[in-house]
Amino acid sequence: MSEILIRNAQTIVTMDASRREITAADVLIRGGVIAAVGQDLHAPQAEVVDAQGCVVTPGLVNTHHHLYQSLTRAVPGGQDALLFGWLKTLYPIWARFGPEEMFVSAQIGLAELALSGCTLTSDHLYLYPNGARLEDTIHAAADLGLRFHPTRGAMSIGQSAGGLPPDSLVEREPAILEDMIRVVDAFHDPSEGSICRVGLAPCSPFSVSRDLMRETALLARDKGVMLHTHLAENDEDIAYSLAQFGCRPGQYAEDLGWTGADVWHAHCVKLNSSEIALFARSFTGISHCPCSNCRLGSGIAPVRAMRDAGAKVALGVDGSASNDAGNLIAEARMALLLQRVDRGANAMSAREILEIATLGGAQVLGRGDVGSLEVGKRADIAVWDMRGIEAAGAWDPVAALILCGPTRVRDLFVEGRQVVRDGHIATIDLSRAIERQRALALRLAI
Ligand SMILES: [Zn+2]
Repeated sequence: MSEILIRNAQTIVTMDASRREITAADVLIRGGVIAAVGQDLHAPQAEVVDAQGCVVTPGLVNTHHHLYQSLTRAVPGGQDALLFGWLKTLYPIWARFGPEEMFVSAQIGLAELALSGCTLTSDHLYLYPNGARLEDTIHAAADLGLRFHPTRGAMSIGQSAGGLPPDSLVEREPAILEDMIRVVDAFHDPSEGSICRVGLAPCSPFSVSRDLMRETALLARDKGVMLHTHLAENDEDIAYSLAQFGCRPGQYAEDLGWTGADVWHAHCVKLNSSEIALFARSFTGISHCPCSNCRLGSGIAPVRAMRDAGAKVALGVDGSASNDAGNLIAEARMALLLQRVDRGANAMSAREILEIATLGGAQVLGRGDVGSLEVGKRADIAVWDMRGIEAAGAWDPVAALILCGPTRVRDLFVEGRQVVRDGHIATIDLSRAIERQRALALRLAI
């Protein structure tokens, strides 16, 4: 069985139960699993990765993304719009996507995540124009080598029915449920160490019916898969919920079966204290997307209050059209800064946000097999070189990773496979993917 020894790291951040940090230490990977963590490990047959001057952390976990949007970054008409206006600008462009656009934009989005230390990501794909399918993104993730939780999203209420998206981008609800069953049966792997787990994810309360929300929840429980959607993103979202459903988003979610340990909601910027308490006692997960919330002017999510109430919080970069970057370690820094804007300089520490970015993400996605560096966990590992200019002069390398940088990982392992080597993607031809992406963007801009 193949072995890799990550040797002589400056600090290993384990994220184990006692949050141990071990200096001058090693990690031994055997067959995709962590075989040992500690000082002076011996493995004469192992391939050695010298980690001198590096901080080694569990791989970061991204819990909310729309990978296809990496093909519509910095689109002029959407640059300064609020959420609903921004969506209306981009819908007609997305309506021209097909399988190639989905595949290439996923390659780019996933590679960007990998370079920023991410080993596990979910994706929320909620439109399927011109023959696009969920597997377009699954194939991209398999090529690149990231652990992947794609979700089969959906929109069913088009403009003619009073919804926001154009009719050409919505699907009939029976067809949506049928395809949800198809992709779960074809691609969902519930086993430990699974590389692909599928979730179900109607886009948002304002783009599908209550019936579809309810039926999706029943289907997910029947199949044993997770549920995901957008919730309580901004003031417009709350106003829509009150006007259309006569209740706040928390109540809406609870009434339709959308709370529980198998559910996570993106954003939750506007949850009030009773909704936060509901999420905490029902173990419902929250994907906090700070850059997207800033970019769209949605507000500051009450992450401190969520954590204090015992709610599960993770990080998400959100789609590239609303960030517009997809750098997860930079997202962690932004999350920390925003809590401090809201609650003062002691509102959140660098170590706490690093925990949210790693272990927190694994917990929200229901993964007990990743998120920490412990014997028996899968070998999803990020190696950060702290000897560059970003952290020069830093006294505390672990805090420096959040407060200073680097924002690009040196090496990245997923299930023991090296996805990033010396700061470069090792599994696919990234230059070619960037060229294809550029050509597709030019074609769409005409
Ligand atoms: Zn989103």
